[in-house]
Amino acid sequence: MKLTVLYRGPLSSCNYGCEYCPFGKWKHTEEELAKDRADLERFVSWVEARTGDTMSVFFTPWGEALIWPWYQQALARLTRLAHVERVAVQTNLSCHLDWVKDCRAEKLGIWATYHPEWTKRHRFLAKCETLSSLGVRYSAGMVGFTRFAEEAEALRRELPEDAYLWINAVKDGQEEPYTAEDIARFTAVDPLFPVNNVRHPSLGRACKGGESVISVDGEGTARRCHFIDEAIGNIYAPDFDQALRPRPCSKATCGCHIGYVHMDYLELDRVFGSGILERVPVKPLWREGVAARAE
Ligand code: SF4
Ligand code: SF4
Repeated sequence: MKLTVLYRGPLSSCNYGCEYCPFGKWKHTEEELAKDRADLERFVSWVEARTGDTMSVFFTPWGEALIWPWYQQALARLTRLAHVERVAVQTNLSCHLDWVKDCRAEKLGIWATYHPEWTKRHRFLAKCETLSSLGVRYSAGMVGFTRFAEEAEALRRELPEDAYLWINAVKDGQEEPYTAEDIARFTAVDPLFPVNNVRHPSLGRACKGGESVISVDGEGTARRCHFIDEAIGNIYAPDFDQALRPRPCSKATCGCHIGYVHMDYLELDRVFGSGILERVPVKPLWREGVAARAE
C-alpha cells in the first residue's frame, strides 16, 4: 500500500517568537524534549519496519523541529530507506544544514517559511541557495500579512526564478480583510494565492485523509488529518491497517494546503505532483507568470 504520514509529535517550541504564534520562544524541559525524542524514535522505527509499503513522511511540527539533532537524524535515516519515497518537513530554515549530507537529497523536501521579523532576507536566501546546491527541492513561503507584502515582493525578486514562493493567506487574525489590491499583489508573487485564499467546501467530499494519508501524534494516535480530532486508530496496534479506508470529509470546509491538497475534486495532485508535501508545483508557475506578463 501507499501511505503518507503527517507526523506531529509533542514538540511545540520554537527559537523564533512570531507574535501571532503560540509556540514562539516557548522552551521545553529536558524531560519533555526526551519524550519528544523517544516518540520520534518509535515512529521512525515503525516506518522502517513497513518494508512492504511505499511510504512518505511529512513532519509538520507545532514549533521548529530542525534545530534538534534527533529530527535531523530522523530525516537522514528515513530518506535512506528503500521503501520511503519522500520525506518532507516544515521549517523556519534557521538550522545549520550540515546534516543534509547524510540524507538522500533527492528524497528530501523542505517547506521553508521566511519570517522577516526574525531573520534577514539575505540569510534566508543563502540557506535556499545551499539547499539548491545540495540538490534538495524546497518551497519558500511567507505568511500573507499585508504588512509583509513589500518584503514578499523583494523575496520573489531575489529567489531563483524556478523556486516557488507561496503566500499563506491569513484567514483569521488579519486586522482588515484583503482588498482587491492586496489580492492582486499577493497573486503577482504567488500565482496560487487565490487557491489558498479560500476555505474549500469539503463536507461529504472525497479526501485521501484516513485512507492513504494520515496524521499521527507522538503516542501513535492516527487521525485522518490535523483538522479532525476524531481518532481512527493507533499505528502501533497490530491491526491498524484495517482502519484505513475511504472517509468523506466531516468538516464544512478545508482551508490549509496540508489538508485540501488531498481532496480529490480540487485535483491539486496534478498541480503539485511529487512535490505535493513540500508544496512545490510541477511547473515553475512564477516563471510562466513572468513570461506571460512580458508578452
Ligand atoms: S517560526 Fe513558525 S513555529 Fe516559530 S514562532 Fe514563528 S510561526 Fe511559530
Ligand atoms: S478535506 Fe481537509 S478537513 Fe476534510 S478530511 Fe481532508 S484534510 Fe481533513
